Amino acid sequence: MQNSYDVIVLGGGAAGLTAGIYLSRAKVKTLILNEGMVGGQMILTYEIANYPGIEQTSGFQLSMTMKKQAESFGCEIQQNVKISEINLEGETKLIKVGEIEYTAKAVIIATGGRSRNLGVEGEDTFKGRGISYCATCDGDFYTGQDIIVVGGGNSALEEAVSLTKYVNSVTIVHQFDHFQAFEHAIEVAKANEKISFIMEASIDGFYGDEKVKYVNIKNAKTNEISKKEIDGVFIFIGYAANSEQFKEQVQLNKYGEIIADNNMASSTKGVFVAGDVREKKIRQITTAVSDGAIAAVNAIEYIQK
Ligand SMILES: Cc1cc2nc3c(=O)[nH]c(=O)nc-3n(C[C@H](O)[C@H](O)[C@H](O)COP(=O)(O)OP(=O)(O)OC[C@H]3O[C@@H](n4cnc5c(N)ncnc54)[C@H](O)[C@@H]3O)c2cc1C
Repeated sequence: MQNSYDVIVLGGGAAGLTAGIYLSRAKVKTLILNEGMVGGQMILTYEIANYPGIEQTSGFQLSMTMKKQAESFGCEIQQNVKISEINLEGETKLIKVGEIEYTAKAVIIATGGRSRNLGVEGEDTFKGRGISYCATCDGDFYTGQDIIVVGGGNSALEEAVSLTKYVNSVTIVHQFDHFQAFEHAIEVAKANEKISFIMEASIDGFYGDEKVKYVNIKNAKTNEISKKEIDGVFIFIGYAANSEQFKEQVQLNKYGEIIADNNMASSTKGVFVAGDVREKKIRQITTAVSDGAIAAVNAIEYIQK
């Protein structure tokens, strides 16, 4: 069984859904294939307060509104699918989900990314409820409060410093006795009066009710566990783009992010990229929707040529 589309969008987060809205509204036959539930990282977000035009909403609500908007223009969306095979070379792109074959004249990769997790008890439960992976997104919610930052690289130290604009105190918890950051970043963090350090230690579990209330901190040398009451925890231990499936088909940078030009075109003809999966500095809903719109308009131009 073969199903032909003008454009197939891989990923139904903010970038993919926006591409779906622009494509379908332009009467381009579009299918979004999404591995999980549509919305992507947005649905992990309890409260969004920096999406222009909407003072406050939940990530789930914003996801469902974007989905409804795309579908209202005729966009087809399939959730919880697993892509088994993909060939992006040539004029006709082939994507297989199990035995079902889909073809398209152009593909937009919008498979997003994921912050690396600590993988300890309570982390999944409290994501977006006291655990955050994004200072720009959530710093403001912790105004006047006491927080922990986990990590010892440049982003952990720089984000810890940026969070001191809002919070009362930051405790940096890092597994080693030294940081893996530039000397300047270390000096700036150490000079900040709001920042203190717990070195050679890691978070062993998150506990609370509606939100995180306390964490267990494990000493790496003695394995001793101590309880620390806290209002929030920011985790900065790395980021990974969801690009594994495409690494043979489009050019990636050394971090595994897909390289695209200003039109969101990848190194492969007819393959466009949008959102957190591509090489870029600022990963936000606003930047993802911008990418989605640009990728869609250029995909339309490509298939019309
Ligand atoms: C906890 C948290 C809070 C945040 N808070 C904010 C905030 O307040 N404001 C803000 O602007 N930004 C926030 N962000 C960042 C923002 O959510 C992301 O930058 C944005 O949603 C990225 O959208 P995206 O569409 O590029 O990718 P994603 O949201 O990651 O969506 C990608 C989708 O593709 C699917 N997928 C993955 N691999 C495949 C595959 N091989 N085939 C098909 N589908 C696949 C995934 O299941 C997912 O649904 C937050 C992020 C997190 C994690």
